[in-house]
Amino acid sequence: MSAKLIDGKKVAEITMKLISDDVENWVKAGNRRPFLKVVQVGTDPASTSYIKAKTRSCKRVGIDTDTTHLPDTVSARELKSIIRSFNEDENIDGILVQLPLPSHLSSHDVIESIDHRKDVDGFHPMNVGRLTVDQPTFKSCTPAGIFELFRHYSIPVKSKHAVVVGASNIVGSPMAIMLSRENAEGKATTTICHKYTKDLTRHTIAADILIVAAGQPSLIKAEMVKEGVVVIDVGINRVADESSDKGYKLVGDCDFEGLKNKASWITPVPGGVGPMTVAMLMKNTLLAAKKSIYPDD
Ligand code: NAD
Repeated sequence: MSAKLIDGKKVAEITMKLISDDVENWVKAGNRRPFLKVVQVGTDPASTSYIKAKTRSCKRVGIDTDTTHLPDTVSARELKSIIRSFNEDENIDGILVQLPLPSHLSSHDVIESIDHRKDVDGFHPMNVGRLTVDQPTFKSCTPAGIFELFRHYSIPVKSKHAVVVGASNIVGSPMAIMLSRENAEGKATTTICHKYTKDLTRHTIAADILIVAAGQPSLIKAEMVKEGVVVIDVGINRVADESSDKGYKLVGDCDFEGLKNKASWITPVPGGVGPMTVAMLMKNTLLAAKKSIYPDD
């Protein structure tokens, strides 16, 4: 292997320790412990395991949390009324509605019902808009976590050609926005690709930094990239694995074995981007508690 490993688990540990210290100082100064409210609609097993990981992380950094479980038959009206009650609850700092939602619910509609000052996922249009115009905001956690990795490993972004594969509202699109802004962390020349992109390799092969968030196992293979590329694999896919107790294993969107001989840096899956995403959620919840993004008038 010639590529250096980007160890998200290790960087997340360091980040979580800093957040934990910060939380304790905040509480010692006489403030209420930050509180994250999680809402789960239905019983999707992947969502349940993500929520467990978030709850564990809250515990580790000293953030209080609980999860409101709602049946997958809940109406949009009922769900939004519950969210509104959380918006008004002064003891709740951050609100997270675990996605995906059942198909009868519009995630746009539900996300917009969250008070943007408590939107610690950074998905509310107000926060996405502020990200776009470079104003203080709750940054979407996965892209924010990737930038922490760039900082930790001193991987330069400025003037590089960054190619983002995947254009979702939660990963690809905010990632591309953050890379392309002419601010201290951005200044990359940025290409964004999606499932309608013709000849994906024409774009990926030109990348100095390749960020892949498509949800397609082994989409990116060694012949699709150039020597020395930085590979950030966001994908988390469950593929059948009879040798595992669970019957599946987690893989990314990139062919790690092929790419590790060609890339200069690469993230593993698991243990790459995932732990950083959760760490950034903790950071956003603390920012919400401190009212750092939206101070009271
Ligand atoms: P999504 O389904 O909302 O969006 C996928 C995007 O990829 C779309 O823009 C689509 O056009 C594009 N795409 C799909 N197939 C493609 C192809 N063959 N070629 C080029 N583009 C293609 O997914 P998402 O919510 O952005 O998640 C993407 C992946 O990242 C999933 O595997 C998800 O589990 C994972 N994820 C990981 C983290 C983390 O913390 N590591 C966080 C969020 C999502």
